[in-house]
Amino acid sequence: MVATRVMLDESEIPTQWYNVAADMPNPPAPPLGPDGKPVSPEQMLAIFPGPLLEQEMSAARWIDIPEPVREVYRLWRPTPLCRALRLEKALGTPAKIFYKYEGVSPAGSHKPNTSVPQAYFNKISGINRLSTETGAGQWGSALAFAGQMFGLEVRVYMVKVSYHQKPYRRSMMQTWGAEVYASPTDMTQAGRNVLAQHPDSPGSLGIAISEAVEEAASRKDTNYALGSVLNHVLLHQTVIGLEAKKQFAKIGEYPDMVFAPCGGGSNFAGIAFPFFADKAAGKNVRLVAVEPTSCPTLTRGVYAYDFGDASGYTPLMLMYTLGHDFMPPSIHAGGLRYHGDSPLVSQLCKEGLVEALAVPQLATFEAGVQFARTEGIIPAPESSHAIRACIDEALRCKQTGEPKTLLFNLSGHGHFDMASYDRYLAGQLEDYEYPREAIEASLAKLPKVA
Ligand SMILES: *Cc1c(COP(=O)(O)O)cnc(C)c1O
Repeated sequence: MVATRVMLDESEIPTQWYNVAADMPNPPAPPLGPDGKPVSPEQMLAIFPGPLLEQEMSAARWIDIPEPVREVYRLWRPTPLCRALRLEKALGTPAKIFYKYEGVSPAGSHKPNTSVPQAYFNKISGINRLSTETGAGQWGSALAFAGQMFGLEVRVYMVKVSYHQKPYRRSMMQTWGAEVYASPTDMTQAGRNVLAQHPDSPGSLGIAISEAVEEAASRKDTNYALGSVLNHVLLHQTVIGLEAKKQFAKIGEYPDMVFAPCGGGSNFAGIAFPFFADKAAGKNVRLVAVEPTSCPTLTRGVYAYDFGDASGYTPLMLMYTLGHDFMPPSIHAGGLRYHGDSPLVSQLCKEGLVEALAVPQLATFEAGVQFARTEGIIPAPESSHAIRACIDEALRCKQTGEPKTLLFNLSGHGHFDMASYDRYLAGQLEDYEYPREAIEASLAKLPKVA
């Protein structure tokens, strides 16, 4: 009998996170301040706790996971590695398709893998409050849950249009005790500036980041927490790939290709980086980040220093970017609408060590529905990007007869995204290719770095 779910024991939850910086051919490029010089740790200490900053800059290969964090991980980890036998059969492919299912976490996605350690390290550093932003609500709910685990207050600036469109994500955060405000608010200078000019502003992730950072910088008891992009966030997510490697070892398999959806890069890094360690040691494994054609950061952006937010409050990071004032169209995978990408993922992509590809919206939903109808789980629209790419590869295998082993990260379930499935099923969704002129206009405003 072929195993369909490969399980690990609770005792097999990783005890250390894997830091990819240790195996990169070139050290990660440092973030720069407004003066063009690397940002000092002191500047960052205003909004981040010491232990997370250490992780951010660490070159050590392994970093210990504190026991209280593993205790909370035990609520849903280890997550299952599943074989998509019914999908394989429907496709008629000789490929073996595996997926790692991160939707079993309380928040329904991979994001608690980092919100939990972030809350923990803030708590032991004497911080009592966290401020953050959220777009579609996935990160806000993951942090609200984590705050509750360690007794921290959490305030979430939620992009106004999502606040009204996704009321149940808001209730979820409130159930876990977080305060949620529709951004822009009149509680911060950044918010008031926007409202003075555009009283009806629907908000954006960039504006909400500016509000959350301003609050954290102006209150001693409050720090800021970010759900993707930064090195320490990617580090925490490596529990996904570390578990997957143990699970493959149990059944004597190893993937030829690993796929994950890519917004800021955290779940891609989480599943792919532990396999990169083997690749760096000579193993042949392809790592593929999958993004939407409507927000094609890795495939059509430029590799340059840019701000992480719309207002230019954050340090400059060397990454693939579409320009910090890029306004992505409102596609139905809110988690993939960021203008930039993780500097670590960007650097590995630039060096040709990881691959990127972009897939259009309709084909993505088609793949998500096919997955739901064969494997049962309704995927988050973000995750469906990886499913699309994986199915396309499985269909190529059908043509060539190659029995490849494919793995993708099912980063979350889609139970809060049924409005977008509704629109797909009603034939109201469209493909959208971001116009070259719009990308060029946004790139023309990149900050100049000496
Ligand atoms: C947030 C999110 C993503 C995209 O973020 P990354 O940092 O690129 O992982 C993908 N899938 C789900 C389910 C998400 O919630």
